[in-house]
Amino acid sequence: MEAIAPLDRLERPLGVLRLSLTARCNLACPYCLPDGQEPDGLLSLDQRLAVIEAAVDLGAHTLRLTGGEPLLNTALEALISSVQTLRPRGLREIALTSNGSLMSFERAKRLKQAGLDRVTLSLDGANGASVAQMAGLGSRTGDPSGDSAQLEARGASLLTKVLRAFNHARKAGFDPAQGDLKLNAVILRGQNDDQLLPLVELARNLGVELRLIEFMDVGNRNDWNYEAVVSAAEMVERIGRRWPMEPLGRDPNGTASRWRFSDGAGTLAVVASVSSPFCGDCNRLRVTADGIAYTCLFATPSSGLDLRPWLQQGSSRHDLIERLRSLWLNREDRYSEERKSIRTVASPEPIQHRRAEMAYLGG
Ligand code: SAM
Ligand code: SF4
Repeated sequence: MEAIAPLDRLERPLGVLRLSLTARCNLACPYCLPDGQEPDGLLSLDQRLAVIEAAVDLGAHTLRLTGGEPLLNTALEALISSVQTLRPRGLREIALTSNGSLMSFERAKRLKQAGLDRVTLSLDGANGASVAQMAGLGSRTGDPSGDSAQLEARGASLLTKVLRAFNHARKAGFDPAQGDLKLNAVILRGQNDDQLLPLVELARNLGVELRLIEFMDVGNRNDWNYEAVVSAAEMVERIGRRWPMEPLGRDPNGTASRWRFSDGAGTLAVVASVSSPFCGDCNRLRVTADGIAYTCLFATPSSGLDLRPWLQQGSSRHDLIERLRSLWLNREDRYSEERKSIRTVASPEPIQHRRAEMAYLGG
């Protein structure tokens, strides 16, 4: 008999498992700033499968594979193939978030054949200079000032790779018209907010939905402050002046509020985690590459539950499910709502507490 799906303390069911496959990344986006190396004790493929199976038995219907950069993980296809057996038990969707730079046609085809349903590729600019800046290409050379012409050329080359990745994914069978291929972009005031309209134009030309994400205070390294956040409302207003749009609303448990272009050229989405939090129906469990489970994107490192004791050889599947169930039953996170209420009532400052890093948590 399967376990009964738990509700947390705010009556929210578990729906999505976001599993990070690596904390490493080949880019260094300034709003994310990955470590560049793995933590000790990475989970094996079998351990990851055990975590996914337990989450599905507790109600997770969606698995999102992320990182760091998940295409750095060579066991990605094997993992996707293996979890297909969980579909009859409730797994409905397997999705991947990637920076796209390593997505060849062969890789896209293998991922599709393995049973991946959806791909979201991230790109924060529509020209070489902006892509270089937002992917941290300068910081990777150890010379942040860099030679600007050279940096721009490297940004243009990355942009070309990501645009090709869209074509590869589409040809491999990820159909943007079915929502199987999307584009993520984070917008930071004073850094790439001039790319807002060019990115919309790019997405409209590609025929993919652009998901614009507000800059979030994840981690401790990205110098987050309210002034750098371009709110979803402002983005929608600026885009709507150029391409009028009609609201489609936010799906229950979804992160994105969606809009339809009035001229029929598809849809756009905004993720307003800072300006309009959606903690009330958040159904996401996050597990890091080294097996630490977090019940909130903005969690303190100490609040994570190390699942490895329940993932050792000979451990019982039942014990793992019960441990995760108890974690979920005790969940009461609503950080974004708290941040917003504090900001509105009194202080202009972000809430100060140590947080797990984005590339570790996987977004
Ligand atoms: N490397 C992959 C990628 O970039 O798509 C997957 C991991 S990345 C952590 C997942 C998503 O989180 C990306 O779309 C990225 O833009 C977004 N992200 C990272 N840091 C963020 C921040 N501080 N605020 C908002 N979104 C962020
Ligand atoms: Fe890497 Fe993605 Fe983080 Fe950018 S957002 S540094 S691509 S993990």
